[in-house]
Amino acid sequence: MVCPHSVIRIKAYDPSILTSAPETFRSTEARDREWTGMRYTIQVAPEDCTGCALCVDVCPAKNKSETRLKAINMMPQPPLRESERANWSFLSIPEMDRRGLR
Ligand code: SF4
Repeated sequence: MVCPHSVIRIKAYDPSILTSAPETFRSTEARDREWTGMRYTIQVAPEDCTGCALCVDVCPAKNKSETRLKAINMMPQPPLRESERANWSFLSIPEMDRRGLR
């Protein structure tokens, strides 16, 4: 909600979808009780991000392995552009069936 350019997307999906994911595509276990067994991804569109850092400023979560960092952090775009472009494209996987949401 904080991103002024709406370039952050979130999806929960069946783990079988990951068989065709790019090598650098990141996911984690979906922790909602109703999403048991599903995977969860938060992805930024690298070429549409303006670098305003609002998302990092408001993120309340710390990096568990490196406590001086947050769970999300700003990084130079050029080294990540190609891989994150592929990850963003992959996120066009089907939307969750909203009829199952409560
Ligand atoms: S840094 Fe990028 S992703 Fe984060 S809020 Fe700004 S435009 Fe959105």
